[in-house]
Amino acid sequence: MGGGEIRENLQWVRERISRAAVRSGRRPEEIRLVAVTKTVDPQRVAQAAEAGVEIFGENYVQEARAKKEALGRTACWHMIGHLQSNKARIAVDLFDAVETVDREKVLLELDRHARQVEKVLSILIQVNLSGEPTKSGAERGRALELIQRAAACANLRCQGLMTIPPFYDEPEKARPFFAALRELRDGLRPLVPSGVGLDALSMGMSGDFEVAIEEGATHVRIGTAIFGKRG
Ligand SMILES: *Cc1c(COP(=O)(O)O)cnc(C)c1O
Repeated sequence: MGGGEIRENLQWVRERISRAAVRSGRRPEEIRLVAVTKTVDPQRVAQAAEAGVEIFGENYVQEARAKKEALGRTACWHMIGHLQSNKARIAVDLFDAVETVDREKVLLELDRHARQVEKVLSILIQVNLSGEPTKSGAERGRALELIQRAAACANLRCQGLMTIPPFYDEPEKARPFFAALRELRDGLRPLVPSGVGLDALSMGMSGDFEVAIEEGATHVRIGTAIFGKRG
């Protein structure tokens, strides 16, 4: 797929983001597009940046480095894959935000390495709302504790929550999970230490991002609808 096609896909995705925002009474600018680059080669990532993508999401720390270098321009990089604590140092080096913090050990390692390089790292707490044991993410009952731990870390800024619902062919089936993340966030707001922002809700992928926006998504993570099917 060439640059022209990526540009067209992006235009169509942006159009759909806008329409979903407007029909749910929101401003399109409230929703940030995170273009997901897993398995996409660096050249096509660069084409997406030329077409105006400002935030990229990558699942694999090893892949992020080559893609960042290929861009030749500044972009914001979000880690959206499962993060092992032994990769925390490299994640701090490569990413502006880690969306998949789901346990204390990772949180403390990220803070430690961020302090060493005098960087403030944005994080989201990933919550597993389906209870599927194969999915990563903290149980919903543990989100508050993780947010409180993050608030005590000088080099982390907790910005909100992230979730990946179970896979469905039918986007409406994911709606209860998106609504649940918003409700969890709203319930946590009065409980978190002052100064902690919980505005961000990262939810929705190519198959269901419009539903996620209707339920309050601030970040949608979209790969296939921009870059085509992964080989
Ligand atoms: C792959 C991936 C996406 C993007 O999925 P698409 O269906 O290709 O849009 C979003 N979020 C996470 C965590 C992913 O791993």
